[in-house]
Amino acid sequence: MILVLQLFFVLAVIILIILFVFQPKRKEPFALPENYAEYLLDYVPFYANLDETGKRQFEEKFEKFLSAVKITGANAEVEDLDRILIGAAAVIPVYFIRDWEYMNLREVLLYPGHFNQDFEQHGHERTVSGMVGSGALQHVMILSKWELRQGFINRQSSRNTAIHEFVHLIDKMDGTLDGVPEILLEKKYVPQWQQLLENTMTAIRRGESDIDAYGATGAVECFAVVAEYFFEQPDLFQLNHPELCQMLQRIFIRTR
Ligand SMILES: [Zn+2]
Repeated sequence: MILVLQLFFVLAVIILIILFVFQPKRKEPFALPENYAEYLLDYVPFYANLDETGKRQFEEKFEKFLSAVKITGANAEVEDLDRILIGAAAVIPVYFIRDWEYMNLREVLLYPGHFNQDFEQHGHERTVSGMVGSGALQHVMILSKWELRQGFINRQSSRNTAIHEFVHLIDKMDGTLDGVPEILLEKKYVPQWQQLLENTMTAIRRGESDIDAYGATGAVECFAVVAEYFFEQPDLFQLNHPELCQMLQRIFIRTR
């Protein structure tokens, strides 16, 4: 009888341990960083220039993105400002697109500065400050904290690494990273867009363009680089590159 009781006791303990170990982990409820709207006003002109309704719409998309995608520091502390800038860079290119979701992203890894990489198709100074993963790092984006902040602090620049990487994700959404975002660009405009990218790369190579030289690397980078410029310096871009501007408006803005 004692043996049966002991067995029963042991069994009960084992069941309790199993229940304890496998209890569903409760997810921490997502909370937006404190004072996020002030940060957005200070660091993100795209947001600051929206009217009140536009700001609310931006915030909704921003909150949705930040609650869906994990941001992890890899030897870098993820501060509120970093979360806010990553959220802003994610929303800016798709702000005008209804119900957009980055289906191909689950996590952003934040590195302190530049990093080496031996995967992905990039091979230049700039890729070490940001990249979208492939293979084992599928659905992961890596950003350098330094470059993330520079993109928003330096107002005179047409570069923004985080926006650049999100544009790659948009490009990749149709299954191919080729500089043509088929998911957003009507088919009839594709040949015109490809020709425009070619012409733009030629102009950069000849030194006849104010577009960052990295844009001449290939169609994929050209699309991301002109999109950075389009969102960072919209007035200057419109003035200097009306044809490209019209096409980027078709891609990023017409769908609203
Ligand atoms: Zn790139």
